[in-house]
Amino acid sequence: MDLMVSDLLTDDLNWNRARVEKFLPELSTKIMSLHPSRSGMEDRFIWQPLPTGTNSTRSGYFSASKKVKEQSTNTDDNFNWIREVWRHKCSLKLRLFLWSIINNALPLGENLQKRGILSTTNCTKCNEQETKMHIFFTCPFAVEVWKSIPLRNAVHIAAGMDFKEALLRFKDAVCLPPTEIVGSILPWVLWSLWTSRNAVLFDSKEITPEETATTGLRLALEWNQAQDKRIKSNPLLGRARTKNNRSTTAPLRNNSISCKTDAAWNETRNKAGLAWNFSGPQVSRTIIGSSTQEFISSPLVAEALAVRAAMEAAKELGFINLNVFSDSTTLIRAINGRIQRKELIGIISDIQSISSGFTSLSFSHIPRLENSLSDSIAKEALHHSVTSSVAG
Ligand SMILES: [Zn+2]
Repeated sequence: MDLMVSDLLTDDLNWNRARVEKFLPELSTKIMSLHPSRSGMEDRFIWQPLPTGTNSTRSGYFSASKKVKEQSTNTDDNFNWIREVWRHKCSLKLRLFLWSIINNALPLGENLQKRGILSTTNCTKCNEQETKMHIFFTCPFAVEVWKSIPLRNAVHIAAGMDFKEALLRFKDAVCLPPTEIVGSILPWVLWSLWTSRNAVLFDSKEITPEETATTGLRLALEWNQAQDKRIKSNPLLGRARTKNNRSTTAPLRNNSISCKTDAAWNETRNKAGLAWNFSGPQVSRTIIGSSTQEFISSPLVAEALAVRAAMEAAKELGFINLNVFSDSTTLIRAINGRIQRKELIGIISDIQSISSGFTSLSFSHIPRLENSLSDSIAKEALHHSVTSSVAG
């Protein structure tokens, strides 16, 4: 019960294989296939369901709903949450609002009664029972509000209808031009109806159906215009470009050593051969290096370990200007901070910490065909280790 991960690591932050096999024999291969940072990177949380290891609301929701589905045989009808709620063209606040309505999470009279909280919980406008269908669609007040929304096609809502069905009916309920509002107007009107209801309840303030409709349209319009601006200025694209510049201006300096790395991977044995070679004006002939590694779970991890091993070798050789090449686009993007891969986080942290020892350093992609030397050395190293381990 008191076992910590650190109890399974050696002082130089490798796995203590004997202890791993003693305490967690059935997990030992999986554990050995994780490559902890050697440079003492801080612990952090990793979100397993995504390849990046970083949590997102969408993935969290997706995982949670999957679990719920697994637990109960009484699964939801064919309602597609992702499509009908989470991809709605509206703000995140409103998407959560839609989710709250469907999941009875709003303090509507109907829900409060179920929880035994209030005795008088009827509609603030007409004193009927306050259900979600009532407040948002069938209450005479809501009907008036919807009449003021210039919909392209009329939407027919019946009192006994389920809210989700109403949501689907409104899916294509777009506004007539010239409102500039793209996508469904539904979430904005629902929000406006909800705030009008709360204004009566908490501030004793009466808001007319026309004002409520106008507020919904105004909110939708403002949000749509803000999205337009965001696309036009496109800050993401600009940021990506500057990052890219930083990584591509450095290479190909005359006095730099070119370091080509590669890895070969044996899936059935979980082994990898790592190889690298150094060439350039400062080295009289190409310097070759290689090693083999056990417990390698993917070619990507193998490629990353090849880069780390090559940089350690470069440091020992006293090279201070280095252009590192790999034929793995994913790895180069991960090292340059363009993407994140959870299985590489520790190794990349090591690469960054080794990086500080170089005066100039770059990481670039190289086509496979231009990397044939390291490719054949990696294969040879792997082949040798596999055959020798069979013999021995
Ligand atoms: Zn009402």
